[in-house]
Amino acid sequence: MASVLVVAAHPDDEVLGCGGTIARHAAAGDEITCVFLADGATSREGEDDIRARERQARCAANALGIGEVLFAGFADNRMDAVALLDVVRVVEKIIARVRPEIVYTHHGGDLNVDHRAAHQAVLTACRPQPGQPMRAIYAFEVPSSTEWAPPTSLPAFAPTRFVDIAARLKQKRAALECYAAEMRAWPHARSFEAVEALARVRGACVGVEAAEAFMVIREIVA
Ligand SMILES: [Zn+2]
Repeated sequence: MASVLVVAAHPDDEVLGCGGTIARHAAAGDEITCVFLADGATSREGEDDIRARERQARCAANALGIGEVLFAGFADNRMDAVALLDVVRVVEKIIARVRPEIVYTHHGGDLNVDHRAAHQAVLTACRPQPGQPMRAIYAFEVPSSTEWAPPTSLPAFAPTRFVDIAARLKQKRAALECYAAEMRAWPHARSFEAVEALARVRGACVGVEAAEAFMVIREIVA
């Protein structure tokens, strides 16, 4: 049984990026905590929308088997205006309490500024000091942000770790349905069809029916 922490910028990133992988951890009996750094709503609407996103996040957490959901409450799409140290402190506090062995977060080359801030904050909060609990840190991709950043402008997402989610694809879809309001019509990258197509392509990369792909940020073999 492992302790797993998912550091996501917005409610829905956890499902898009590693929903199937989370479901696998839950099935294995791992303890999963998910923190959302930004509220996913303030740049568009108000309080009601923030509460709605929190409800959606809890719905998705139930669908995937996430034990604890936390909301840091930074303003959506404005995390470039927040001091990195403030974000790091939030992540550090959670790490000190849940002592995660495995951490999942965003790729550092996403177009979305909140995704990049999450990546930076995790790198800093997870710096490999003596006694730190993390043995693996992985970066996931988020359709409509990772592939929207040209590799000529920001570091490309080049995955080297593939998790077979064929048996968890329906669960990922069910969790994504909690965020139906955030989904768009095909052929938008954040459509149900595109999310499944990406899982199929990532699976075909390694000869399985469906997969989620990750970049290995760090792995420590004890
Ligand atoms: Zn996001």
